Amino acid sequence: MILDSKIPEGPLEKKWTNYKSKVPLVSPANKRNLEIIVIGTGLAGASAASSLAEMGYKVKSFCFQDSPRRAHSIAAQGGINAAKNYQNDGDSIYRLFYDTIKGGDYRSREANVYRLAEVSASIIDQCVAQGVPFAREYGGTLDNRSFGGVQVSRTFYARGQTGQQLLLGAYSALSRQIAKGNVTMFNRHEMVDIVKIDGKARGVIVRNLLTGEFNRHFGHAVVLATGGYGNVYYLSTNAMGSNVTAAWKAYKKGAAFSNPCFTQIHPTCIPVSGEYQSKLTLMSESLRNDGRIWVPKKKGDNRSPNEIPEEERDYYLERRYPAFGNLVPRDVASRAAKERCDEGYGVGETGLAVYLDFENAINRLGKDIVSARYGNLFAMYDKITGDDPYSTPMRIFPAVHYTMGGLWVDYDLMTTVPGLYAIGECNFSDHGANRLGASALMQGLADGYFVLPYTIGKYLSEDIRTAPIETDHEAFVEAENAAKERNEKLLNNNGNRSVESFHRDLGKIVWDYCGMSRNESSLIAAIEDIKQLREKFWKDVRVLGDQKSYNPELDKAGRVADFFELGELMMRDALERNESCGGHFREEYQTKEGEALRDDERYTFASNWEFKGVDESPILHKEDLDFKTVHPTQRSYK
Ligand SMILES: Cc1cc2nc3c(=O)[nH]c(=O)nc-3n(C[C@H](O)[C@H](O)[C@H](O)COP(=O)(O)OP(=O)(O)OC[C@H]3O[C@@H](n4cnc5c(N)ncnc54)[C@H](O)[C@@H]3O)c2cc1C
Repeated sequence: MILDSKIPEGPLEKKWTNYKSKVPLVSPANKRNLEIIVIGTGLAGASAASSLAEMGYKVKSFCFQDSPRRAHSIAAQGGINAAKNYQNDGDSIYRLFYDTIKGGDYRSREANVYRLAEVSASIIDQCVAQGVPFAREYGGTLDNRSFGGVQVSRTFYARGQTGQQLLLGAYSALSRQIAKGNVTMFNRHEMVDIVKIDGKARGVIVRNLLTGEFNRHFGHAVVLATGGYGNVYYLSTNAMGSNVTAAWKAYKKGAAFSNPCFTQIHPTCIPVSGEYQSKLTLMSESLRNDGRIWVPKKKGDNRSPNEIPEEERDYYLERRYPAFGNLVPRDVASRAAKERCDEGYGVGETGLAVYLDFENAINRLGKDIVSARYGNLFAMYDKITGDDPYSTPMRIFPAVHYTMGGLWVDYDLMTTVPGLYAIGECNFSDHGANRLGASALMQGLADGYFVLPYTIGKYLSEDIRTAPIETDHEAFVEAENAAKERNEKLLNNNGNRSVESFHRDLGKIVWDYCGMSRNESSLIAAIEDIKQLREKFWKDVRVLGDQKSYNPELDKAGRVADFFELGELMMRDALERNESCGGHFREEYQTKEGEALRDDERYTFASNWEFKGVDESPILHKEDLDFKTVHPTQRSYK
């Protein structure tokens, strides 16, 4: 496997401009003959499909939901970053770039991150032009708030529903192209395999989830925009349907899978409340703009929070990190909450929670302003817990939220399979070992609206003479048969355990051993545990129904089967990385103060895994990360 990141020559701040000036183009007449498959209609997929169609390509777009606008992106709450410097508080492209590199604990690629910061401002203009109702100040200008790991206010938002509003914008753009006949939309279709011909991605096999029917689709190029895989942990803030299947099929067809163990645990989620819970709810990071996090100073203090006087509260983030206070990055805030709870200072019935308190903000700003900023999040919290955050602090605890790992891509966003692209959360992204808040929406839309439309032309300009390949080609037939056989195997298994029960057990292993902290011996043990559980799954799982009709249990079984293989790879990746960085906290490698201790000498690389067979060990390929502009230092938010 060859990893060529294809970073353009020249100074960092000129790379993208020079690239765009020189990149080969495809003429309008040729664009009409080129077909592109886009899997996924979240912010990344919808923005890419609509932009490519607007440019003149023939696009086919797929999602497994009943409508493109139900993609998981709709759940995003807090905001989207952009280096507009509207607040005149010292922001710039360089600062957004620097914050992202530092926030990612120096484990991302400089050139890609700089480009992301560069195009961030255009995203806001694009979305405003689409009518996205960003929050505005009294005078009518766009408002901003702060997110973790930065000292400026660069986050644009639409109350606590930013993802929904942005997705409505992208969905409108997509709908326009559907109506014009430039995009053919396939809702309720799940991609079950990539088809490769002569080493290039040339199509996909999809399954109609309503009828069970398999279909073959040719494309000159295939774009995956299939989101993150946090649901491997079973409990996460992701939508229940989010999964790794598309990326996993790509991995099995030769695309390198990068940094699979880099998971983001978000510090402010509603704590787990019982054994049979299957979903966790995020309380947006934006709440940390005004909410203050604390625990009682006394261990096991079970008075109600309002009875605990100010001097008996430990605002531990403000104490430990005075420069950033409650707005330290997520990995730092999550570990600090875990540390307090492990030491016995946690609150609530389980002791696995800390307080997020708005009393101070309400006294300072008034209830109306707090409600205007966070009202829908407060209502959601109230509905789920029965507590009113206006009068009593929220209880929160860290939970799995985002996956920085994903398919390796070069500067063009192409995977190691020619013609196969990955954008949005499903690629290994620009976020290194820890993503900063409000940067996922920025990355997804940067990839879809502003980067891929240029880079894909470079590949397609060499493909203008390729006529569409008939889908009775043996590569299509083989891929479809393999997918059908796998489903039949699941249905005919006749075991005695539900898919859900296996998923829950797998999630527990992944959370316990590859969650907020990891260590060598438990990672080694977990690899064996997962293997054994996977064997049991294939022996004992019971999937009812058939594959000729709507059967969500069958869909889930296929996704969980892939999670088993992914879980094992995550353990291997975490085991191989003998350092702590960002969200990857190896207990053996920490500073005296309990902060992540990187080993830049040996681990300044992205780990990229090559599939060799389900029961074979994958091969690790390293992409060395070269920091020419920012010099890695011990990350400090003190
Ligand atoms: C609760 C929550 C709040 C968040 N808030 C913020 C925020 O405020 N700011 C921020 O920057 N980030 C936020 N994030 C992260 C952000 O929402 C996601 O990273 C981002 O939306 C992912 O977008 P995407 O387009 O890559 O994928 P998604 O939106 O997950 O879309 C994936 C698409 O792929 C399709 N798909 C997947 N697999 C297949 C398949 N096999 N076949 C066919 N289709 C398939 C799905 O149908 C879907 O259309 C939040 C995340 C969560 C969980």
